[in-house]
Amino acid sequence: MQTYLIVGAGQAGGQAARTMRQCGFEGRIVIIGDEPHPPHQRPPLSKAVLLGKVPPEKTHLFKPEWYTENDVELRLQTAVTQIDAAAHRLTLDDGSGLDYDKLLLATGATLRRLQIPGAELPAVHYLRRIEDTLALRSACREGARLVVIGGGFIGLEVAASARQLQCEVSVLEAADRLMGRAMDAWMGEYFERLHARHGVSIRLQQQVRAIESDGGACRVVTADDVLPADVIVIGIGITPNDALARQIGAEVDNGVVVDAQGRTSVEDVFACGDVACHHNSRWGRRLRLESWENAQNQAIAAASTMCGSEAQYDPVPWFWTNQFDVNLQLAGVPPHWDARVVRGDPQSGPFTVFYLAGDRVVACSAVNNAREMRSSRVLIEHAAAVTAEQLQNPQTNLKALAEAAEK
Ligand code: FAD
Ligand code: NAP
Repeated sequence: MQTYLIVGAGQAGGQAARTMRQCGFEGRIVIIGDEPHPPHQRPPLSKAVLLGKVPPEKTHLFKPEWYTENDVELRLQTAVTQIDAAAHRLTLDDGSGLDYDKLLLATGATLRRLQIPGAELPAVHYLRRIEDTLALRSACREGARLVVIGGGFIGLEVAASARQLQCEVSVLEAADRLMGRAMDAWMGEYFERLHARHGVSIRLQQQVRAIESDGGACRVVTADDVLPADVIVIGIGITPNDALARQIGAEVDNGVVVDAQGRTSVEDVFACGDVACHHNSRWGRRLRLESWENAQNQAIAAASTMCGSEAQYDPVPWFWTNQFDVNLQLAGVPPHWDARVVRGDPQSGPFTVFYLAGDRVVACSAVNNAREMRSSRVLIEHAAAVTAEQLQNPQTNLKALAEAAEK
């Protein structure tokens, strides 16, 4: 009987185990994770769980009985400390070992820490794990002054949730626009206005120097201001957990390099999710995606390959964010584009923004417009030739364009 080991009990790890059973693998599967929780999804942690609308257990991928029904072993609160790739053996932090035939690294990522004086004060929060959300939720009392450092996804989702919890919220972003890794300046400004409408103070181009406290409330010191704060949340990005891969000499380049089937450069070792970096043929370069869909679909690809049915993972990246009453979906990656086309009225309702390179749509952002996103993704996937006029014209049936592109 063969043994497949999965390191990391996050979304990718859990989905990989499910896929292995769906592929008919009958051998031993063990998921080893250093958190106390079974595989779970993180998106609700900055949204519904932080708002107190759903309990943390709702984020779990499977019911507890799923593991016995599918004969999947869970080793929680256990870290893998070493891999011996030649011997096909893992060492765990309790000193024990586990042998494998095939190994999947689904170790995710670690929060980047802000290196300034005061960053370790008790009022300072980060957000990645369930415990982080629960701690932040209890700090978000009505009227609390919250300063968020980082205007990326975490920062803005936390800002929106905290505002809904009646906190006073300021966001300090180092760059000259919001969510700059995923969006252009135009969309960034749309989100600035959204947050301003809801009473969030957004400050761009802010260099935070220190966080000070004399035992009571804190002060966040920037290059040109001092902001009083009861709660500080830092969301300045993540770094991939690639130490185990480095240890065995696997190729690492902004994450563990994998092929379209999830293989690393080391025999019988695979990787997926936030930790993995794949070559994307559409964009002609390596991409390490940090999204729910990537954790899901790259895990499916890698686990299928491990089970002998080769998948091809070469996606059009897609992800979403929910802030206040806005659901934003994005497809593609920040591209080199020649023209931005807005379809719909951003002042009054749902709208979609297309980014064109020549006559091809290379990226798209849809605000409260999931229906148009479905068709737009098809246009990107098939590199369909379209004109700006077609896209802008509300009479143009995007679904029909997408269907034609698929033929
Ligand atoms: P993880 O979920 O990080 O799981 C990896 C696990 O491996 C962790 O538990 C880690 O502790 C463990 N591990 C690491 N090293 C070891 C070791 N040596 N031994 C044992 N265990 C180990 N994406 C979206 O598309 N839309 C969203 O709205 C969205 N919202 C998000 C909100 C929040 C608050 C966060 C944090 C992320 C959000 N994301 C969102 C991103 C998405 O959740 C991640 O991309 C996804 O969780 C990645 O899954 P993963 O399994 O690769 O990694
Ligand atoms: P992120 O999206 O990379 O954003 C971090 C932001 O902080 C960037 O805008 C960055 O600007 C800024 N920043 C960096 N250093 C700073 C500093 N010293 N002061 C002020 N701002 C600073 O990462 P994140 O928001 O922390 O999210 C962490 C992870 O969770 C990511 O993987 C993210 O994709 C995921 N997540 C996703 C969603 C979603 O998809 N809806 C929601 C929540 C979390 P520069 O780019 O200029 O450095």
